Amino acid sequence: MSQDENPRPYFINPVCCNGCGACVSMEPELFGWDESGEKAAALLDAAPENAVRQAMAYCPHDCIEIEGEE
Ligand code: SF4
Repeated sequence: MSQDENPRPYFINPVCCNGCGACVSMEPELFGWDESGEKAAALLDAAPENAVRQAMAYCPHDCIEIEGEE
């Protein structure tokens, strides 16, 4: 992790997630599946902001959120 990678708490809105799997494919260390296997879930409490933002850009419904942001 380089110095400019700032770990931020992140999470997935399960109501919004349709289980497309884009985030899990892109960042498998950050995103996995919840107990139902139908919705994505954050695997870590916090992750480098750059990596989270990259997955956010590919989520078709904007379900990935960084804590403290709209
Ligand atoms: S990219 Fe978005 S909609 Fe697709 S599985 Fe991840 S959180 Fe859910």
